[in-house]
Formats: sequence, structure tokens, C-alpha cells
Amino acid sequence: MDYSELFSADTHNFMRSPVRDIFKKVDLSKIYSFAGGYPHPSTFPTDRLASMVETVRQKYGDKILQYGATQGTNELQEALSKRYDVPADNIQITTSSQQGIDVTARVLVDPGDVVLVADPSYLGAIQSFKSYRADIVGLDLTPSFEASKQRRATIQALVDAGKKIKFFYTVPDFQNPSGETLTLAQRSELVALAREFGFLILEDCPYRELRYEGQPQTTIYTLAPERTIHLGSFSKVFAPGLRLGWMIAAPEILDKVYVCKQALDLCPPVLDQYLAAEWLSSGELDRNLEKTRELYRGKRDLMISMLEKYMPEGVSWTHPEGGLFLFLTLPEHIDTVALYDKALAVGVAYVAGSFFYANGTHRNTMRLSYSFIDDEKIEGGIRILASLIR
Ligand code: PMP
Repeated sequence: MDYSELFSADTHNFMRSPVRDIFKKVDLSKIYSFAGGYPHPSTFPTDRLASMVETVRQKYGDKILQYGATQGTNELQEALSKRYDVPADNIQITTSSQQGIDVTARVLVDPGDVVLVADPSYLGAIQSFKSYRADIVGLDLTPSFEASKQRRATIQALVDAGKKIKFFYTVPDFQNPSGETLTLAQRSELVALAREFGFLILEDCPYRELRYEGQPQTTIYTLAPERTIHLGSFSKVFAPGLRLGWMIAAPEILDKVYVCKQALDLCPPVLDQYLAAEWLSSGELDRNLEKTRELYRGKRDLMISMLEKYMPEGVSWTHPEGGLFLFLTLPEHIDTVALYDKALAVGVAYVAGSFFYANGTHRNTMRLSYSFIDDEKIEGGIRILASLIR
């Protein structure tokens, strides 16, 4: 049957993720995979899961399997409120931070509205904004006077053209894909622009707790709570399979999200919320995080030493202070989209950097993730990758 007449106009704006398509094609455990931003399975409390479920069953009985409140369970809201020192009324539990991104776009974006993004940016967010027919404008966040002037001029030109800018989307800590962290000056500049031009900031922080070097930066939410929607996630500090995250924002914004979520999924997964609240309030989250940070610091160091050992002249990379990714820039003539099939044929997977740019530019870049790959495979994978680039 031909269904094309029946699909909505919005489906024409759905954008397939080349990253998720990679996972469909290959068994990542059989190759040298620097592709997925998957947490290392050793960070999951798999062995303790049965006893954790038993603990919440004894404490809460049937409630753990019942429908829950749309805003999330009291226990999880309270645990997050304590940890991040914000009133529970400013917290909405989400079915993962991807939902936080999508629901934000859904309550703020009309077709043709501008969403500003850092260039490069997380692909899952771009996919969501496109599906609501946002006009996505990428900004170069280079911390220089010239670039700063250019950013202001770009925004001014959009306003002069009668465009409505709704929000700036940013992953300020150990960004996916670049691994880079915004300085306080960069954060303050974004806040000043948002205040001057009247838009909001969507601050997406799934990696914030994974800092293994240097001092934490102030969140944008702390700098401008009235115009920031802050997103957190349990995916990298507990388990992504739970699909659990949270939003921190003004109650007026969260009220719209609350009504929207009633139609989306009624409530976030209830059993998962009880487990997460227990994970947090028992102190397990922090104990586990120490080990997780240690693990990823070791992997980052190993990656960088192997890049230094094998990569030819003309290749440079970022030095992440946390998170799961680093970003490579290769000589101009190398096209990482074209190189991908060759790399896969010899057993190495990465994600081409151009997928993360609003206009598909920077085809000489690539994202390498070091969280999932076992240490023993890092040297082999980088050696093969370097020989392809050479
Ligand atoms: N934001 C960013 C920047 C991400 O990299 C990801 C996925 N890795 C997400 C959001 C979505 O994460 P989740 O839905 O698992 O919380």
C-alpha cells in the first residue's frame, strides 16, 4: 500500500540520524568502535539490580508498578532538589533528557522560529528542532573578539529580518561532539545575548557529573535562572536503559511541559524513578561516580597518548576535561564521510564530524568516543585509523 498521502506534513521534516543508523548496521562489540556515546557497561550496577528492586518493593509496595504523577515521584523530585539546591517546584522528571529537549522544542517552537545552536551540536537535538520546523542557525562559539562581534551581528540580522529567536541550545560541559567545555566568559556572553535579544537558553548537561580534571564551571542556570531551562540525565550516572532525566526551569515554563507530557507519556517510568531516587539518596550514585570518572579519565589519557603516538602531522584533537568524546580535525583534503566505509571495512567505526554542523560543513572532522571501547582495543583502533588518514 502507498501510505505517502496519509503521512503528516511534519514527517517531511524528520531527519534520520546517521549515528543511530551506524548502530543498526554493525555489531559494535565485534569491531574497534569509537562511534557510540555508550557508557561502559562496567559502570552499571547490573549485579545489584535485583537487590535494588527488592529494596524499593519493600519500601513502596505496589506503588512501584502503578501509574505515577506526571511531574515525577515526590521521592525523586526531593532527592534532586536536595542535590542541586533548587525547589522541587522547579523540577520536572522526564523520560530521559532527549525528551527534555523534544518537549522544550514542542512548547516553544512554531514553524519558522529560530533556534540558535553551537556549531557543532548534538545531533539528537538538531533532529528534534527540525521536526518542529525550526530554522536552525549555527553559531561559532570561538572565544575571540572578532567571533563575538560576528555572533552579535548574526543575531541582530535575524531580528532585523523579522525572525523570532526562541532559544539557544548548548551542551556547556564536555560537549557532544567536541568534548569541549564553555568558560565562564562564554557562558556570560550567552546570557547577555539572551537578555538583550529576549530569548531563552536550553542548557543540556548529561555529562556534567563526569568531570575528571579541573574545576566545575558555574551552570548557565545559576547565572540566569529566569531564562534557562536546564536538563539533566541519569543515562551517564546510572544507566541509559532506564530512560530517565530531569528539567530545572521556572514553574511557568514547567507548567506547559507538564500539560504537554500528559499527552506524551502520562508519567515518567515509575519503577525507574524509585530506583534512581534510591541510587541517589543512598549515596551509591556518588560512590559509583568516583569509579566512573576514574575509568573515563584512564580511557581519555590512553586515547590521547595513542593519538600522539600514531597520528600523522596535521591532525589535531580536543582535550576533554570530562565526558565521553574527543573531536579530531584532519587535513582539509580528507573527507571523513567518504572515508567511513573504508574504515568500517577494516573494522573501525567513528562518527563523521560534519553530521554535527547545522550546514553539514567541516567534512575533515570526526568524533571519537572512548567510553565504550575496552582499553585493550584502543591502541589497535587508533593505529588502524591513523594508517587510513596517512
Ligand atoms: N543530550 C546530549 C548532549 C546527548 O549526548 C545525549 C545522548 N547521549 C542526550 C541528550 C540524550 O540522552 P538521554 O536521552 O539518554 O538522557
